Amino acid sequence: MGQITLSKVNKSFGATTVIPGIDLKIEEGEFVVFVGPSGCGKSTLLRLIAGLEDTSSGTISIDGRDVTGEPPAKRGLAMVFQSYALYPHMSVYNNIAFPLKMAGTDKATIDTKVRDAARILNLTNYLERRPGQLSGGQRQRVAIGRAIVRAPSAFLFDEPLSNLDAALRGTMRLEISELHQKLGTTMIYVTHDQVEAMTMADKIVVLQAGHIEQVGSPMELYNKPENLFVAGFIGSPR
Ligand code: ADP
Ligand code: MG
Repeated sequence: MGQITLSKVNKSFGATTVIPGIDLKIEEGEFVVFVGPSGCGKSTLLRLIAGLEDTSSGTISIDGRDVTGEPPAKRGLAMVFQSYALYPHMSVYNNIAFPLKMAGTDKATIDTKVRDAARILNLTNYLERRPGQLSGGQRQRVAIGRAIVRAPSAFLFDEPLSNLDAALRGTMRLEISELHQKLGTTMIYVTHDQVEAMTMADKIVVLQAGHIEQVGSPMELYNKPENLFVAGFIGSPR
């Protein structure tokens, strides 16, 4: 579960080609980081995988099934948005339960899943609070909880920590890595932050202007950058 394959994926907006053609294979259970400067196409690539954008050409398959053109709800993935996407008027419980209610899940099942997610995320004592009564880190955990209850085959994160302060970012980085270890689920994590990429990833995909510059483990990229862009971006002395 959670194996994702992109073949010749191209995305253009009108006359502007943002992703000229990407081939990429993500293995089951991998923590993959898409890293690159602002505007290089990281969010677009993630949205294509999620089904929030349609490919202009090329195919995307998940666990061997061609999902090109399928809507997000059919893909079995969960996108984690920044914590400000929570519903301020709803309790933590109802924020986490929301996707299950939308899917028509029965109350008892919802309750079990929400409480399991809260336990994993150390939110058990906060279920009756509203997002405004939580710290930034707790709010981000609620946003992750909303993804966990759907038991996705992969989690997709788009710069989830960018509106947190530096200290909290460090803590949340560790928490997300621990969550990956606990769940063993494929995670794709978008960031422009090299430190996040180097510390969290099993596999880093370095992007520039919609192209993949290099794919490799943090050590591979550090020791054997294939070009100056990768070397400069990863911060190798070469
Ligand atoms: P990143 O997430 O790496 O910062 P994006 O994927 O958001 O980059 O954007 C990549 C490029 O695609 C940018 O030049 C951006 O302006 C363009 N782009 C993104 N979405 C749209 C859209 N809906 N319409 C037109 N251009 C877009
Ligand atoms: Mg982006």
